Amino acid sequence: MKIILLGPPGAGKGTQAEVISNELKIPHISTGDILRESIRNKTSLGEEAKKIMDQGKLVSDEIILGIIKERVSKDDCKFGFLFDGFPRTIGQADGLKNLNINIDLVLEISLSDEVIISRMSGRRIHLSSGRSYHIEFNPPKVEGKDDLSGEDLIQRDDDKPETVLARLEVYKNQTNPLINYYQQLEKQSDLRFVKVNGANSPKEVSNEIFANIE
Ligand code: AMP
Repeated sequence: MKIILLGPPGAGKGTQAEVISNELKIPHISTGDILRESIRNKTSLGEEAKKIMDQGKLVSDEIILGIIKERVSKDDCKFGFLFDGFPRTIGQADGLKNLNINIDLVLEISLSDEVIISRMSGRRIHLSSGRSYHIEFNPPKVEGKDDLSGEDLIQRDDDKPETVLARLEVYKNQTNPLINYYQQLEKQSDLRFVKVNGANSPKEVSNEIFANIE
């Protein structure tokens, strides 16, 4: 199954992606995680991307489509995958179509602006796995530590308040139009579009998602 997770920053895409990917045994492909890995590895892509990410802006469609093309050609993607944080622009969605990748399901996790802001300020992540937590709504078992590795959790630079508002603006202008894009595509193809309420608890959101997958 080929799935796209759509939704504003802080909607819980990463958390749900992990659950879905484990359950359906398909790889979780997060362009944000791939970019953060390049930053950690100090590659030229990482250095270029960091400046853009720290301002809450989007990395170019060309770079992102290059990353995706390479990633989906790997063996583990044979039976499907889950995109988290991709596509983020109409250009990326068109690029995906041009790669002849037919998406089966688009899951929109919706959330109001107020909740997004409070969620992002409390978010903490485990950098090397991409696992994310929230200090209040989804805390780790031990404060400040990743549940599986026990390593430190960090706050992403772009989750700091000054960047959060910029990211929200970018989401509204550039990514939100994808909702209509995929709703229209649903009418012309086998793709299904499903919207779930991201304001519920992570467990409730997963239940709603699985009720729509099975
Ligand atoms: P995320 O972890 O998905 O919230 O992504 C963090 C940041 O990485 C974004 O704010 C963008 O700067 C960049 N990024 C991740 N995915 C994309 C994408 N599909 N297109 C453009 N920029 C992206």
